[in-house]
Amino acid sequence: MRITDPWLTQPATQSLFEIFEGAGHQLFCVGGCVRNALLGVAVADIDMSTDARPEAVLALAKAQGLRAIPTGMDHGTVTVLSGGIPFEITTFRHDTSTDGRHATVAFSDSAKEDAQRRDFTMNALYCDAQGQVIDHVGGRADLDTRRVRFIGDPDQRITEDYLRILRFFRFHAWYGDPDQGIDAEGLAACAAHGDGLELLSRERIGAEMTKLLSAPDPAPAVAAMGQSGLLHRVMPGADAGLLAVLVHMEGTTSPDWKRRALALGGEDVAELWRLQKSDARALTQARAALAKNTALPELAYRYGLDMAQNVALVRAAMTHEPPSAELQKSLIKASQARFPVKAADLMPGLEGAALGEKLKQLEDRWIASGFTTSKDALLAE
Ligand code: ATP
Ligand code: MG
Repeated sequence: MRITDPWLTQPATQSLFEIFEGAGHQLFCVGGCVRNALLGVAVADIDMSTDARPEAVLALAKAQGLRAIPTGMDHGTVTVLSGGIPFEITTFRHDTSTDGRHATVAFSDSAKEDAQRRDFTMNALYCDAQGQVIDHVGGRADLDTRRVRFIGDPDQRITEDYLRILRFFRFHAWYGDPDQGIDAEGLAACAAHGDGLELLSRERIGAEMTKLLSAPDPAPAVAAMGQSGLLHRVMPGADAGLLAVLVHMEGTTSPDWKRRALALGGEDVAELWRLQKSDARALTQARAALAKNTALPELAYRYGLDMAQNVALVRAAMTHEPPSAELQKSLIKASQARFPVKAADLMPGLEGAALGEKLKQLEDRWIASGFTTSKDALLAE
């Protein structure tokens, strides 16, 4: 099957092929874009691979008046803007030495060598300007059966870069076949090298885990992480048990990694995953609300509809009772409710701390009334 998707046939992409091939170089699209195109799912960004050295990539782009950014020259990556779209162009490479986190790279003239340094067979598919797929590692067959399989010896590939453990579960969650299950050889190797996760930065763990938990159904992959003792290493105290029920309760509600993390429980991962401040705050608040059993409309009012719905779904998973349509309606209403009393209404009789205290009291009373007590009634108390 030839790839004929617009991201490939569009002039912005085709002109890059013309530039590189015109200068006698090889150029291919590679990785996620080829994999996703063959699976028929959305392509987010386009990675390319070439035998041209990074300096030559910069020079070729500039000679054509294209903006080129030396994104990671050590690793051979240049970002070229064509038609306003960023293309990550990386020189063919093979990794000469690795310490479990960083690779020392050597550039190569061979796409086959470049394929072999990649992580999973389905991530090492290339395509040319005409959309012809080039497969050096048996990725096509694995993609057809949705099998996430390490290229080469899994033990060796994991010790080169321990992030691949988490990527294994992430790609299985997104593209694996839940019925066929996770690749046993890869799983065994991941389980055997769990210690290596300690070497990874919190940011990288957080980025992988949030992507994993954003999959349509991450439950089978997370369950496999739990059974192999890996889940606790990145999420101490977590329990994978509730996740499958949660995903079932979610129905058509769009996936939200924070909701899934909430259902997994255990320690607060805000610090462990070096989450962005807004995510960290939302997750910490949701955990507190779940622990304190805060009323759901109050959550919707204080923290917004998404947060209340997340807590509602996790509670539903715990009780095995789906949230009702009435609850949903009341949450929408609560999220739009506006407290009718302003500080000015209590001044000048009250000020400073006493004013703040009174406002808070009235607001609590108003919330307890189901957001119904009028301003006059509140002020009359
Ligand atoms: P996504 O849709 O999540 O972007 P992707 O396949 O494009 O999926 P990236 O993390 O963007 O994933 O990486 C691009 C490609 O680079 C991968 O498809 C894979 O071939 C290679 N790659 C990325 N990270 C690694 C790694 N840690 N080890 C080996 N190869 C990797
Ligand atoms: Mg990508």
